[in-house]
Formats: sequence, structure tokens, C-alpha cells
Amino acid sequence: MKSILLVEDEPKIVQLARDYLEHAGFAVLIASDGRSALAVARTRRPDLIVLDLGLPELDGLDVARALRRESNVPIVILTARDDEFDRVLGLELGADDYVTKPFSPRELVARVRAVLRRSERSDQPAEVIRAGDVTLDVPRMRAEVGGRAVDLTATEFELLATLARQPGRIFTRAQLLDALHGVAFESYERAIDTHIKNLRRKLEPEPRRPRYVLTVYGVGYRLADDAA
Ligand code: CA
Repeated sequence: MKSILLVEDEPKIVQLARDYLEHAGFAVLIASDGRSALAVARTRRPDLIVLDLGLPELDGLDVARALRRESNVPIVILTARDDEFDRVLGLELGADDYVTKPFSPRELVARVRAVLRRSERSDQPAEVIRAGDVTLDVPRMRAEVGGRAVDLTATEFELLATLARQPGRIFTRAQLLDALHGVAFESYERAIDTHIKNLRRKLEPEPRRPRYVLTVYGVGYRLADDAA
């Protein structure tokens, strides 16, 4: 059974989210402040973390930052609907997805499942993608660029794999969102830009002058088809 750590300080939201997640077959751990969230994450090693950004003790963004320093555990953040700044910053810190409050618990469950699907590829047949000097071992979620191992989050990996399966093909932001979620829900296409930025920072020799993941102005992105 997959375990989900739910980090939230509002009892009503905890109860609602826990009910739905448990009903969906997940074991749910609860933390109601930032410090205990980090402690539970370290000791119980959940399969995914649902993280509210408005927390006592230690802010949710600080929790996300601390988690990312030590693991690639999938993170879905909960943010206020009007707080785009926090949302973008959360994604920049490496969160895999977000749900805005007030949220539908069904949507939360769907997001959790989609993010877990992306991060669990081990039961799929072996697939190695090679595009120029980008090599992706899909079941093991290992990425290599020019012989150098690059440590990617599940979302960054899936994004790069989507581009690398069809090098040179132009993907719009909406298409990339579809590839990540299966269903795009109401996600902002700007989320793709922040994931692309994180990806470039990790794999490009000069992130400001990308050699692999290229911007197609006004449209989206593509992997250089001569990525070598
Ligand atoms: Ca809160």
C-alpha cells in the first residue's frame, strides 16, 4: 500500500483529504506543522507528500526546499487560488504539481495518482531512450547527458522523456501538460516553463544558452534533434 504524508494544519481539510485518500487505497500519515512534516518524512519515508504552503512553525516553501535537498520524493503542494507567486515558487523549488484551495478532494486524489504514476515506472517493460547524447533509462528514472548522470525529479524526468521520444518535435505547453498529467485539469501552462527552467539548470552546460531543450517562441519547446 502506498503511503501519503498529508501536511496540513486545518483539521477540516485534513479530515476531508484523509477520507478521500484512504478511500482511494492509500495509507495516510498526518503532520500539522512544518517541523513534524520533516521529521515524519525522514523517518517514515512516504511515497508522496501533499504539502500545504501555509503552515505554522516552518513555512511550506521552506519544507519543500528542505525536502528537495535530501530526496526526490514526489510533492503535491496546496496553495491559495489567488497566490500565483507561491505556486510558481513551489514548482521552482521542485514540487511536482499543485492543487489550489478550495479544492475538490477528487481532484486531489487524481493529482496524487498522476504524480505517483509518473514516478513509478519500475513495473513497465525496459525502455531506454537515446536522443543524441541524452540517454534516459525510463524504468529506473536515470538520466545521462553527455555521459554525465543528472539527478531529476519525476516531473522533470517525464518532461525530458516526452521531448526525447520525438526529438525535434515541437510540443506546446498544453501538450507537455497533457503528457505529465494524463488530464490537464486547470493547470497553468506557466508551470511547464518553471519545470523547463529547473531541467535546464540541471542538464545544460550553459542554462542561458540551451543546447538541448530549446524554446520555440510563442509555441513551446523541443529537444534539439542534433543534441550531440
Ligand atoms: Ca494552512
